[in-house]
Amino acid sequence: MTPDLYCIPAWVFQRRRVMKLFLTTLWFVGSLLAVQAVPMQVLIIDGQNNHDWKATTPVMKKDLEATGLFKVEVATAPAADGPELAAFKPDFAKYKVIVMNYNGAMWGDATRKALEDYMTAGGGMVVVHAADNSFAQWPAYNEMIAVGGWNGRDDKSGGYLRWKDGKQVLDTQPGKVGSHGAQHEYVLDTRAPAHPIMKGLPKQWLHASDELYDFMRGPAKNTTILATAFADPKLGGSGEQEAQLLVTSYGKGRVFHTMIGHGPEAMKCVGFIVTLQRGTEWAATGKVTQKVPADFPKATTVSLR
Ligand code: ZN
Repeated sequence: MTPDLYCIPAWVFQRRRVMKLFLTTLWFVGSLLAVQAVPMQVLIIDGQNNHDWKATTPVMKKDLEATGLFKVEVATAPAADGPELAAFKPDFAKYKVIVMNYNGAMWGDATRKALEDYMTAGGGMVVVHAADNSFAQWPAYNEMIAVGGWNGRDDKSGGYLRWKDGKQVLDTQPGKVGSHGAQHEYVLDTRAPAHPIMKGLPKQWLHASDELYDFMRGPAKNTTILATAFADPKLGGSGEQEAQLLVTSYGKGRVFHTMIGHGPEAMKCVGFIVTLQRGTEWAATGKVTQKVPADFPKATTVSLR
């Protein structure tokens, strides 16, 4: 059949061909975009910390962006307490996950309320090392981190979160809050192998030389220990299996708390990097899609990047 037979002008067929080509191209570009997912927005908060946040924030930003899953921005709080800090108020709702690398002066009421609302509504948070020293006087923050140390915490802050007789316990005996011995290599014991963050990780892995936080106290409501480490009394530790990696739900929000990662050297441990990457994805979505890399540490060998 030719167009001439039915007196249909040729331009009608040309237009149809152009339209078909246009739709095919649109479908092709659409499929490409669907495969190449848009990175999730992550905000690291720093600016005050008794640790070297200027060195550790770029390390964590690089590690998170290396997954291809995240785009990381940084909000640096003013260095001192005062009106400028009171006005510090990141737009939490813009982000899938807030990474806390902040250990400093209390934020203003509006900022605290905004973070509580963000988490209640289903936000994600990652708490790194000394960020669990922060905000001892802020009850909601202590619920988010589950346990914390130092800065005026005491017996009333809650129990010690430990692993005893094959199960998680919140030990309410009186005593100090927040401690660590000299830095050393130590084994992390997986306690929740089925949790998305831990799935596929070895039962035990040797962490690079780092502080081992112990005697940490808190409400630890809705909290699951993912991994513990034995705080050896010979090295100034409590003699207990202390929680090191944990998750907590707060409202509809998810918190991943890693106590390891004192500084850039300890953060070279592949175990730190991978649990940070997986923990951040889980805090964002409740799932983990990342594969465990071949260079993940073994029970007796440290692995650094
Ligand atoms: Zn430290």
